[in-house]
Amino acid sequence: MKKLHSILSIVLVLSLVLTAFTGCGGKKDYIDYLVLVNKTHKLPDTWEETVRLKESENKYGEKYLVEEKALESFYKLQEAMAKEGVVIELDSTYRSVKEQQQLWDDWTIEFGEDYVKTYVAVPGFSEHHTGLAIDICIEKGGVRINDNDEMIAEREIFAKIHEKLADYGFILRYLEGKEDITGYGYEPWHFRYVGKDAAKKITEKGLTLEEYLDEK
Ligand SMILES: [Zn+2]
Repeated sequence: MKKLHSILSIVLVLSLVLTAFTGCGGKKDYIDYLVLVNKTHKLPDTWEETVRLKESENKYGEKYLVEEKALESFYKLQEAMAKEGVVIELDSTYRSVKEQQQLWDDWTIEFGEDYVKTYVAVPGFSEHHTGLAIDICIEKGGVRINDNDEMIAEREIFAKIHEKLADYGFILRYLEGKEDITGYGYEPWHFRYVGKDAAKKITEKGLTLEEYLDEK
C-alpha cells in the first residue's frame, strides 16, 4: 500500500511538472486568435509588429502573407479538399494598414470619395490586417473562379468546403442573413482562422464572431 502511495505521488508530481512545462490550461498564445476587427472595431495598435506572417505561393505563382498557424491549417484544409476533388487556392490574404491606406487614396482620386466609402474598408478596420483572414478562389473544370458573383453561384462546391472549415480552425466569417451584425454581405470565400475549439463552437451554433464574443 505504501508503494502504491509513493507511485501515486510520483505520478502527481510528474503531471504537475508537465503541466508547468506545457502550460496546460494557462498557456497563452502570442496573439489573440479571437481578435475582433470589423467596421467598428479597429485593429489593435501593436498587432502588425507582433503577428508572425509567413509567405506562401499559390499554384498561379502569386505570393501571399498569412499568419503562421493559420497558414499551416489552410494547407491541411487544402489537402483535405483535394482528396474530395475540390481545388482551393489563396486569392487574397494579409493587407497592411499602409497598403489599405494607399488603396484608399488611389481609389479616391480615381473614383471619388463616395465610391471608396462604399466599397473599400477604412484602413485599420479590415479583418485582412490580422493575417488571419483568407479569401480563397476555386477551380471548376481546371478554370480558376475568383469573381465574387461567380463564386456565390457555386453553392455546391462551397457547401463541401464550408462543411470542413471548423475541423481546421476556420469559420465562415460573413454569413448569409447576418449582414446587419457583421456589416458585410455574404462572402462564401472569406475564411477566418480562430482555432479549432472556437471554430467548432461558433459553427455548431451558427454564430458570427461578433455573437460568439458577446456570449462569452
Ligand atoms: Zn476577405
